[in-house]
Amino acid sequence: MNDHHPNSWEARAAAHSLYGFTDLPSVRAHGTVVLTHGKGPYVFDTYGKRYLDANSGLWNMVAGFDHPGLARAAQAQYDRFPGYHAFFGRMSDQTVTLSERLIEISPFAHGKVFYTNSGSEANDTMVKMLWFLNRAEGRPQATKIMTRGNAYHGVTVVSASMTAKPYNAAFGLPLDGFLHLTCPHFWREGAPNESEATFTARLAAELEAVIAQEGAETIAGFFAEPVMGAGGVIVPPKGYFQAIQPILHRHGIPLIADEVICGFGRTGAVWGCECFGFAPDAIISSKALTAGYFPMGAVILGPSLSDRMQATLDQIEEFPHGFTASGHPVGCAVALKAIDVILNEGLLEQVRAGAPRMQAGLAEIAEHPNIGELRGIGYMWALEAVRDRDSKRPFDAGLSVLERIANTCTDHGLICRPLGQSVVICPPFILTDAELNEMIEKLAAALKQVFHEVA
Ligand SMILES: *Cc1c(COP(=O)(O)O)cnc(C)c1O
Repeated sequence: MNDHHPNSWEARAAAHSLYGFTDLPSVRAHGTVVLTHGKGPYVFDTYGKRYLDANSGLWNMVAGFDHPGLARAAQAQYDRFPGYHAFFGRMSDQTVTLSERLIEISPFAHGKVFYTNSGSEANDTMVKMLWFLNRAEGRPQATKIMTRGNAYHGVTVVSASMTAKPYNAAFGLPLDGFLHLTCPHFWREGAPNESEATFTARLAAELEAVIAQEGAETIAGFFAEPVMGAGGVIVPPKGYFQAIQPILHRHGIPLIADEVICGFGRTGAVWGCECFGFAPDAIISSKALTAGYFPMGAVILGPSLSDRMQATLDQIEEFPHGFTASGHPVGCAVALKAIDVILNEGLLEQVRAGAPRMQAGLAEIAEHPNIGELRGIGYMWALEAVRDRDSKRPFDAGLSVLERIANTCTDHGLICRPLGQSVVICPPFILTDAELNEMIEKLAAALKQVFHEVA
């Protein structure tokens, strides 16, 4: 137990705030890190201690914590028009402009955008759109949603049902009709002596089999992160999307790319689907959409879904869905500025230039015998800890090795996140060379220390 003074920030946080996705024994032992401000890729706590945030907040603060242009864009819009909805045939000028811009930079020849306040709500909205369309088109039985094991699509009831993580059993989820296929993680899921190509073919055959078993006419859509983020940075095996897309297409099942993490440069391309060379029917966006400076999500429909939506709405009076703050003018102004910052202020180039250096630095760390796999692309990487590299056997859960790594990093002034048996590294795009080196050095030191402790 920590011995923090009752008026300390730590005690006050524990007294009246509930923690989500938090290892509570760690908080009891170390206290809450209460943060007050940030500078570049660094954040500062109430003691003035500085941390390099190698996780960009939660993947989203890609332009760092004090970008003057983003703060100014928000301030200017607050001064001009601080809030409005997008119901009843009204919406702000910023909303109109952002939709144009999103379609312009999307892979779609034409399309339409619908706004939410988060990635979870964007996935929920997409599912409701599919259910709405299928009913309106006379296929009310087409309701099932396919995702992959270990996928993360959010926490609302529907997006949690899409999220294929064991912790959702604590809520009695998933709901019926949410089908979870094999996680496309070759290192973990590949059979002994199976080649990557054979693994990909096996996943495609599984998809074909599940569709046959359930009936294509009962399935509303297949959702996939181009690279799984919260699943532990799972880069799909070679040819994966090229293998599954034709199957989905043949059965008339829309492929939805959940680009909440990959979107806007994380992989080194604007979109993950661009990076992996596939053409989704819709894109789910959030996180870097506003560089984390405003809560916002978006459903971006490509030609076929937006045409179907348009045809249905031509028959029906309204789409009865939307949030009070959907298309918020400040959020839209911030998103327009964030897109400009990422695409026109060199952030995308910085990811492309920095990625090989980051990979090289992490590859050196991965030589340690307690690292089983280094995986990633662009500015999203994971190191998976193992007790034994050959058998891929993890450390005993009782040792809490990943929590120890994260806590040791925090002690050294580096924030990085434990995810399953992996440490995730996904820094802001603005990292300088010196900051990149600092990140690698601190991570290497923390890992060495913890592996030594548990040896
Ligand atoms: C974070 C995330 C979400 C959920 O977004 P929230 O804004 O936290 O609701 C959905 N999909 C993916 C891929 C994510 O990483």
